[in-house]
Amino acid sequence: MKKAIFPGSFDPFTIGHDDIVQRGLALFDAIIIAVGKNSSKHEMLSVEERVTAIEQLYADNPKVSVCTYEGLTVDLAREKGAQFLLRGVRTVADFEYERNMAEANRDLAGIETIVLFTRPEYAHVSSSLVRELKSYNKDISRYLPTL
Ligand code: ADP
Repeated sequence: MKKAIFPGSFDPFTIGHDDIVQRGLALFDAIIIAVGKNSSKHEMLSVEERVTAIEQLYADNPKVSVCTYEGLTVDLAREKGAQFLLRGVRTVADFEYERNMAEANRDLAGIETIVLFTRPEYAHVSSSLVRELKSYNKDISRYLPTL
């Protein structure tokens, strides 16, 4: 059984994240979306609100589950029996970051990271963009997956 953790902040979970999950489902038997509990002052949604939104989105898909975590992602992977981490890459900056993390996680725990490149039409979509638009009371619905 191929199991992947898709870790992130997901504040909020966007159409870009959903696309990575949908495409990841062709590769893995199960995907656990893991919402990191790293406290940030710039929160749009509480961790509980993020989890609820993601759970609703995949309520009909038994291959997708959601959890929260603190600490190292590789420790969570071991705890959940996941052999893979799933991540998305939009930019060269994402690439550099993901490569370093992937090397460290493989070195630390023998966990492989599977990286999917963003669809070009989602390359500009980020949680921080959505948070900024929201702070100016703009409509953010186009960036959020529909139920
Ligand atoms: P983190 O704080 O760990 O970067 P995010 O919630 O911002 O968490 O992102 C989680 C993962 O989703 C990361 O691998 C990120 O690169 C990826 N991701 C975010 N937005 C997109 C997008 N539009 N297309 C592809 N991947 C994305």
